[in-house]
Amino acid sequence: MPNLQQLIENIYAELLPQLGAGKVADYIPELAKVNPRKFGIAVETIDGGSYFVGDAEESFSIQSISKVFGLTLALGKHGDALWRRVGREPSGSSFNSIVQLEHENGIPRNPFINAGAIVVCDAILAGHRPKEAIGEILRFVRQIADDDTIVIDPAVAQSEQKTGYRNFALANYMRSFGNLGHPPDLALGVYFHQCAISMTCRQLARAGFFLGNGGRMQNGFAVIPRERARRICALMLTCGHYDASGDFAFRVGLPGKSGVGGGILAVAPGEASVAVWSPGLNRYGNSELGTHALQLLAERTGWSVFG
Ligand code: GLU
Repeated sequence: MPNLQQLIENIYAELLPQLGAGKVADYIPELAKVNPRKFGIAVETIDGGSYFVGDAEESFSIQSISKVFGLTLALGKHGDALWRRVGREPSGSSFNSIVQLEHENGIPRNPFINAGAIVVCDAILAGHRPKEAIGEILRFVRQIADDDTIVIDPAVAQSEQKTGYRNFALANYMRSFGNLGHPPDLALGVYFHQCAISMTCRQLARAGFFLGNGGRMQNGFAVIPRERARRICALMLTCGHYDASGDFAFRVGLPGKSGVGGGILAVAPGEASVAVWSPGLNRYGNSELGTHALQLLAERTGWSVFG
């Protein structure tokens, strides 16, 4: 395999002419302000290598990528009991879809669509005030990234709080089925702040390291058991890209989670954790250039969960 730094620099240079492809998310007004011509890649290999290129040191809104960290935390608190409130099946519907909730008694299909992540946030909130739950999530992310400078962008959280009518609808609907333990505005307060965490590609790649390393951080600290890391990766593969999860598995072949901020976290178990960022999205809400970059990286390294 060629030198990884060279490899990501080549991918970056090859995709540069497509900079600005896709459409920046504008349904959250604060996200619409982001420069569409940003592009960064960061790779942390399990054997200790650290590589990056482009805008990999610039913070962006991680949005739904945070759902991986929220799920990890909630499973730590509630264990398998969490699966009574949220499913593990790909939805085949858009990230903010409400349709399946009616047929499934308010139980969201999986923890990575909005409805599922709102339930997960509600579970993290149990026994806490929203501020404490938000603090717990942020502390957890800082811990796994080994970086105390990571913050939540209050402008993004407020922007979503003001305009998140669909998420309010999802939360109210689930509450009506008894699948939300707290008033919707409290669970959503946690959810919006979790989505508004700002990170760089480098921080994100470091934060995802434990998933590629059997649950352990670079310093050996066991965040979760190996079995749980496998299962979270399985959900990322099957549900991490909404109704384009199949296409992502086909093209990239790695567990991944995207966010409407244009970031994607991908995990090559036993090999590496990779973060890419480019704000232009395809019609499914996943980074256009980021997906392409991961496809090229997987092809050229041979990283795949399919052998
Ligand atoms: N905060 C966003 C929302 O709830 C997350 C969506 C995403 O990143 O896919 O709409």
